[in-house]
Amino acid sequence: MNNPQVKCSIDNCEYWEKGNNCSAEVIMIEVDRHSDRSLPQSKGGEQYDTRHTDHASGTADTCCHTFEERSH
Ligand code: SF4
Repeated sequence: MNNPQVKCSIDNCEYWEKGNNCSAEVIMIEVDRHSDRSLPQSKGGEQYDTRHTDHASGTADTCCHTFEERSH
């Protein structure tokens, strides 16, 4: 399975790169209400969960859990 190219407009994220490209090794998308949930697995310093599932009510109910505010 090939991973999709992830395009993202959040330019204050550590993983954001010029051209709106995400450089994270793995990203985790969650429903908004679980945005602060701790995740059990990690790869390249980025956390994720392969078991937990959710149902979103629409696009506006989803968020990138991997976002990390750029420190510089
Ligand atoms: S980790 Fe999420 S917020 Fe950050 S650049 Fe990638 S997709 Fe965007």
